[in-house]
Amino acid sequence: MGYKIGLDLGSTAIKMVLVKDRNIEWSGKVPTAPGQEHLAMGLVKDALNECGLSDTDIDKVSATGYGKKLVSNAENTVDEISANAQGMFHLSGGRCRTIINIGGQDLKVINLEDTGKIADFRMNDKCAAGTGRFFEQVARILDTPLECFGEMSLSADEALELNSTCVVFAESEIVSLLAKGVKKENIIKGLHYSVARRITHLLGRQKTTEGGIYLDGGPSQNPGLQDALEDELLMEVNVLPKPQFTVAFGAAIS
Ligand code: ADP
Repeated sequence: MGYKIGLDLGSTAIKMVLVKDRNIEWSGKVPTAPGQEHLAMGLVKDALNECGLSDTDIDKVSATGYGKKLVSNAENTVDEISANAQGMFHLSGGRCRTIINIGGQDLKVINLEDTGKIADFRMNDKCAAGTGRFFEQVARILDTPLECFGEMSLSADEALELNSTCVVFAESEIVSLLAKGVKKENIIKGLHYSVARRITHLLGRQKTTEGGIYLDGGPSQNPGLQDALEDELLMEVNVLPKPQFTVAFGAAIS
């Protein structure tokens, strides 16, 4: 008894957390694919097996994300913005005032009041630039695993100026840079700065906020992006452990 499940059915990944006393006891994810309810239930089964629990130990199942309505046994559905706000405010110990969420296909900025209540939010879901999908596309063009982007970017000797943030144009620009013999590290660092500038633009006036900026979502696991963003904003940008699970956690505690 006393366990809660939070499921976040995102555009790119389905995430699950098992929570007890507001602590994450287990987390797991699978890529989003047809049969989302089945995939989500597979995560629940894995969690119960690995933790030696049964269905009767679970008090509540909550779902969020664009596929939240697909989970028929979720008694609680929570919108993604509220789940993100709740989850991050709690995990940051009440310090977060601005969340930058980078997802598989969108980019969100959520501002919080001192109480954790949502003050406002902005979203860019019109194009893939700066999202996980954009990074995945570039990883394919560079034939380099996305997981290496952070380390490579931090070892670059310069950030190359990239003109295209559009996936389609970026591809030809990157291909021609590679043909000129430009180092992949410098292209990746340039890419991080171009995404960081895009995020700064979305933040608008908010960039003057005094602290409390937290980055989450899958791509926030890339330290090269965090570094570029700190450089652009001239401020500390925090990334907490398990940043891809903030939204699932927020749903679980809602
Ligand atoms: P959504 O909720 O929209 O499904 P997520 O927040 O789960 O999005 O993020 C998914 C994205 O995270 C994927 O597009 C993937 O490229 C990116 N991602 C996952 N792991 C890493 C990693 N270790 N480094 C960089 N990016 C990652």
